[in-house]
Amino acid sequence: MATVSFQQVNKQYPGGFQAVRDLNLEIADGEFVVLVGPSGCGKSTTLRMLAGLEEITSGEIRIGARRVNEVEPGQRDIAMVFQNYALYPHMTVRQNLAFGLKMRRTPKAEIARRTGETAETLGITALLDRKPRELSGGQRQRVALGRAIVRQPQVFLFDEPLSNLDAKLRVQMRAEIAALHQRLGTTMIYVTHDQVEAMTLGQRIVVMDGGVVQQAAAPLELYRQP
Ligand code: ADP
Ligand code: ADP
Repeated sequence: MATVSFQQVNKQYPGGFQAVRDLNLEIADGEFVVLVGPSGCGKSTTLRMLAGLEEITSGEIRIGARRVNEVEPGQRDIAMVFQNYALYPHMTVRQNLAFGLKMRRTPKAEIARRTGETAETLGITALLDRKPRELSGGQRQRVALGRAIVRQPQVFLFDEPLSNLDAKLRVQMRAEIAALHQRLGTTMIYVTHDQVEAMTLGQRIVVMDGGVVQQAAAPLELYRQP
């Protein structure tokens, strides 16, 4: 588990567009924070800077005591879940789950143990030998979530993970993510444009607009404001 801190962070894309402006945000160890706001407001850019997928133009981001720009993206103790699953189509579910650990030269027995546990947690044990094309959308999203869980990261990042699912599955997966947070107690940062999702999942909701944080408060406090 770890704290995450953004200090005076700015992001200007090549071409000059300022996607994030003067972002200051302290996320507590184990906290579930939702970044919400209209499309294009800078949510995804914020996550991507934290993940090391985007350069920071100025300011500082820390995970625990470490500045992220001093840690290679592959070495950062985070795992990201995307809306488009990002599964390897030619690999089985088991291989998809194991891949990141294999890259990190995790011992085989440990990979087998963690893969098995993760599959059990998500109820996908029966699917371990299938390929992604043989899965439903909901099953694929479970595998994508499994790829993050199996790494046992200090911080989970979610970028609109449920927006490709139908309404029923969205509700179901939302509950699973909430249960996962309950069980692991890991810091989670979750991006969505869906207010219901934000209100149900977030211990704290950060509202962004035009690259700027407009409000940051617990769901009930946000409701109370005029
Ligand atoms: P959100 O996740 O809130 O929808 P993003 O962080 O993806 O917003 O994007 C914020 C703004 O930055 C948008 O206006 C978007 O068009 C712009 N943007 C995103 N990526 C790039 C890029 N690689 N180059 C230039 N502009 C970008
Ligand atoms: P790790 O868990 O070590 O990050 P991943 O399997 O998640 O390993 O990803 C390794 C690299 O492959 C990353 O740069 C990631 O963006 C990329 N990647 C992930 N999924 C796919 C995919 N389906 N097709 C192509 N590249 C991918």
